[in-house]
Amino acid sequence: MASTILPTFLFRDLTDWSVVEPNGFPDYRYNDREIVRAFADNSARTFEWLIAQGVVFVDKAPESGGISVGNSVPRETHSAVLDWAMVQTGRPADPMLRGVLSSGEGLMRPLEAAARKAGVQILLEHKMTAILREAPPSGRTLGVAADNKGQAVNIRARKAVIIATGGSTGNVNFRRMFDPRLTEEYCGLAGMPWSNQDASGELAAMAIGASLWGLYNQTGEFGLSITKPGTIGSQFGYAYLRWMPGSPVFDRVRATGLRVADWQDLILVNMLGKRFYDETGGQFTANNHNSIEAYVQGSYRNTKNTKYNPNNFINAALAGIGDGHNGGGPIWAIFDADAVARERWDPNPPNVDIKAGFFFTADALSELAKKIKMQYQRVPMPPGNLEQTVARYNSFVDGGVDQDFGKPRPLHKIAKPRSTPHGPRPSSTTRAQACASTPSARSST
Ligand SMILES: Cc1cc2nc3c(=O)[nH]c(=O)nc-3n(C[C@H](O)[C@H](O)[C@H](O)COP(=O)(O)OP(=O)(O)OC[C@H]3O[C@@H](n4cnc5c(N)ncnc54)[C@H](O)[C@@H]3O)c2cc1C
Repeated sequence: MASTILPTFLFRDLTDWSVVEPNGFPDYRYNDREIVRAFADNSARTFEWLIAQGVVFVDKAPESGGISVGNSVPRETHSAVLDWAMVQTGRPADPMLRGVLSSGEGLMRPLEAAARKAGVQILLEHKMTAILREAPPSGRTLGVAADNKGQAVNIRARKAVIIATGGSTGNVNFRRMFDPRLTEEYCGLAGMPWSNQDASGELAAMAIGASLWGLYNQTGEFGLSITKPGTIGSQFGYAYLRWMPGSPVFDRVRATGLRVADWQDLILVNMLGKRFYDETGGQFTANNHNSIEAYVQGSYRNTKNTKYNPNNFINAALAGIGDGHNGGGPIWAIFDADAVARERWDPNPPNVDIKAGFFFTADALSELAKKIKMQYQRVPMPPGNLEQTVARYNSFVDGGVDQDFGKPRPLHKIAKPRSTPHGPRPSSTTRAQACASTPSARSST
């Protein structure tokens, strides 16, 4: 009995027309019914199959975490990393943590081993460049064309070609079909620089006549990854992943980034050196288990019971500077030596990326504004703007009220000069960094 009821329950959750995020975005309404039906019907079986392939799940009850993984019940489970080398560090996890630490290697490495054992040939360094079809846009699909380090290779399909290239948000022109505001500066997509999500699969499929369905979810306005990355001072700031120097991709990552523990420790300014929102604000919450009061599948009342979160962080960032261009430009975190001490940061390479222009230091605000030059800063930051912004913010700290953006009781002035081995320098020192990261339609956990 359970085997017929439970998939239906899951299917209904994932196609619930009534569910909207607190920003009014319809979460599940546009999901493709046939895909979700297959997903729901095969979910438990897939779980068992993964275990049979050597995947070990952390021994604890499913959680409500993730983003909208379930409304009726918690559904998030975790694969244990075991002794696989982690991509973040290039090393296995601490032996004490291997059975409880959740990481993608614990999913993918056992699958890779099982596939190789079954005789699957995995061609690395082969980029699929086209899907070959008899007489596009019709006829049999024959295989794929690929590029192997400059050498063209055609691979014949015996039964079918399955495209699983990961996504499209790394392709600026492709994502701008859905939202023209998402210009180049949103350059720190979560999968990067490991998987660049360049839309090559989608484009190859469309070139032989495919059309893409269900793209409405691409326009979801979920802002944390675009407005407040998990780390600052580096291009790639995914909140749950820290690239360390031992990582096999660290040469492409360039810097680990600084994690912000308390957004009271800094202000965020746009290209013109002006604040534009409350730095402590968050993104819209997701409709996880228990986030809609008295949730009932398909109920008209769900919308009325959604806990409204009026935060409009992402749209403030994407509004830009009113110069007639798309895109918000880099967002700079401005902070002083006291903030560095409070956060216990070491603002030096390899923690920050000075070379690519994601981090600057100066002894005075005007000097800092003049220094900020990088590929996405399309206009110079007027030094007077930054000075006025910081002076005004410091006056809010004195007065206890952020009169511009309602930050809850601003706590710390930006004033303390940079510390040196010989003591503080005489003039005001600030540091800035660009946080320009690419949002995915649904950011991942
Ligand atoms: C940092 C991070 C943490 C995440 N955490 C979680 C989590 O905790 N739980 C969860 O459920 N999800 C999580 N996700 C999301 C999840 O990892 C992805 O949804 C999932 O990996 C997508 O799988 P995929 O096979 O579709 O694509 P991918 O895993 O992106 O694989 C696509 C592959 O195709 C290759 N490729 C692309 N184009 C070509 C081409 N032209 N030719 C040849 N190869 C190509 C890519 O190099 C890549 O290897 C996370 C994602 C990230 C980035």
